Amino acid sequence: MSYDPQNIFARILRGEIPCKKAYEDAHVLAFHDIHPQAPTHVLVIPKGAYVSFDDFAAKGSDEEIAAFVRATGKIAREAGVAETGYRLLANIGPDSHQEVPHFHVHIVGGRSLGPLLVKS
Ligand code: AMP
Repeated sequence: MSYDPQNIFARILRGEIPCKKAYEDAHVLAFHDIHPQAPTHVLVIPKGAYVSFDDFAAKGSDEEIAAFVRATGKIAREAGVAETGYRLLANIGPDSHQEVPHFHVHIVGGRSLGPLLVKS
């Protein structure tokens, strides 16, 4: 899948669409999901143009990848879910029903989350 610069997260990164920001540094932006599935539901995205986890893992620089991992942990701690627990979730491609083709991790927590997968 090639990167579509018109995807909604690219537009948020360019400031064309507002977001409720949770965190930002040179390589990472995090914001609250517009349709939260739990009391804490934050999306963490790299600022670079990566479609998926495997795209980011293959093409992201060591600095970008380290920044992303460290920011995700920091955001979870600052959201107050590190003690009670939380789930990191990344949808990739059609079988996972990825809606937005810009790599992102969901941080979901603040309540008991139930089983990992729902039977379809
Ligand atoms: P995914 O299925 O993993 O691609 O999830 C995309 C997520 O982006 C969904 O949980 C949406 O609710 C969320 N989302 C879509 N548009 C926005 C937006 N403008 N601001 C914040 N979250 C959004």
